[in-house]
Amino acid sequence: MPTKVAKFGGTSLASAPQIRKMQAIVQADDDRRFVVPSAPGKRDGKDTKITDLLYLCHDLASKGLKFDDAWDPICERFKQIVSELGLSLDLEPILAEAEATIAEHGKRGLLADYAASRGEAINGRIIAELLQCDFVDPTELIFFSDNGRLDEDKTYATISERLGGVERAIVPGFFGLGPDGNVKTFSRGGSDVTGAIVARGVNATVYENWTDVHGLLITDPRIVPGAFTIETVTYRELRELSYSGASVLHDEAVFPVRQANIPVNIRNTNDPEHPGTLIVSNDHESAKQSYQITGIAGRKDFTIIQIEKAMMNSEIGFGKRVLGVLADFGVSFEHIPSGIDTLSVVIEDTALEGKLDDIIAALQAAVKPDNIDIDNNLALIATVGRGMAKQTGTSAKLFSALGEANVNIRMIDQGSSEMNIIVGTDVQDFEKAVKAIYAAFISEDSRPRALS
Ligand code: ASP
Repeated sequence: MPTKVAKFGGTSLASAPQIRKMQAIVQADDDRRFVVPSAPGKRDGKDTKITDLLYLCHDLASKGLKFDDAWDPICERFKQIVSELGLSLDLEPILAEAEATIAEHGKRGLLADYAASRGEAINGRIIAELLQCDFVDPTELIFFSDNGRLDEDKTYATISERLGGVERAIVPGFFGLGPDGNVKTFSRGGSDVTGAIVARGVNATVYENWTDVHGLLITDPRIVPGAFTIETVTYRELRELSYSGASVLHDEAVFPVRQANIPVNIRNTNDPEHPGTLIVSNDHESAKQSYQITGIAGRKDFTIIQIEKAMMNSEIGFGKRVLGVLADFGVSFEHIPSGIDTLSVVIEDTALEGKLDDIIAALQAAVKPDNIDIDNNLALIATVGRGMAKQTGTSAKLFSALGEANVNIRMIDQGSSEMNIIVGTDVQDFEKAVKAIYAAFISEDSRPRALS
């Protein structure tokens, strides 16, 4: 039977009217059997997320202070939601138990996880009442091992067994059971991860991630206002784009569903007719259609260390010694463009903080170069597209767009997967370059031609 897992984010469930939208979405499709809610998020820019208030409660409790000022607005918010939804759920005992346990955990010096998880836990109870379906506490389904990582075998086996026999259920996001028997949360934004784990555990047909945007955009709308939504992106493309700066899902949320080949559909709760973005594996039917490029992402603040030495090309082990120095300093690199007698290493500025001088000295000793140049102020822009490999002229189009926009290209790297072209520009040219690439490949009146 087709099964959809629908995770709803904090803004999608921030108030009774938002929760009504979720209800309409879930009830519009019988396949949406499992709902994973976040805690109520911000209703507007000035509002505070329930989870932030809960962390504050724990913080105050652990200092032996009263936490009413943070707790009262949480209670008011949940009560207002229940009353506006017209539910008869008695919140008093639920809130009283949560308050007492937060106080006790604070006093015992335990971590904030229990407190932080109550936003999802209480919202889940409300939503289960509204949708008239089972509430399953994630501490019965999601287990962490001693090293703090998910105990995959136990978790997936339990989910499949426990939820397999349930018609519909609400499973709150963000937490599970730690090895010490206490609640343990994922990192912030972790309800995405719960949704992915539940989807994998029940072997869902699709994992729907309902949020407040139309999906993944082709590029950052702060640079290109009105940038189009990406219709289909493969997991590999998504990895390239998110590594290069695009953000849409919690990083860890992709792995469980990717391994199980379950598509993820990012959707907008405020515009449920919009198809959103579908994230699929390479061999999925919808990945076959592709545009020349899928997305453009980038990050600023990189440094190039350029090492020059005559006859470098014939010196066996040169590259290994250079990278060995970086490894000794615990520094990871992004790219290593090279020429006959030059080898450059591109590194994020933050990774070099406080270490650059020592690294240069160690490089001098390790490879005895003729010259080392340090060049910072570099931005990297990744143009990603599974369609590139099938079409000639992508790089010509990209570089002429940058040339026409007067952007000086300082570095070029094309992965052998032929799925992305990375260019390095001056930080000042970053926005201009992204705009130029977008304009060259994607224009308002004619979407790029789909390749067959
Ligand atoms: N409520 C948690 C947070 O604010 C988890 C989530 O919303 O995904 O981080």
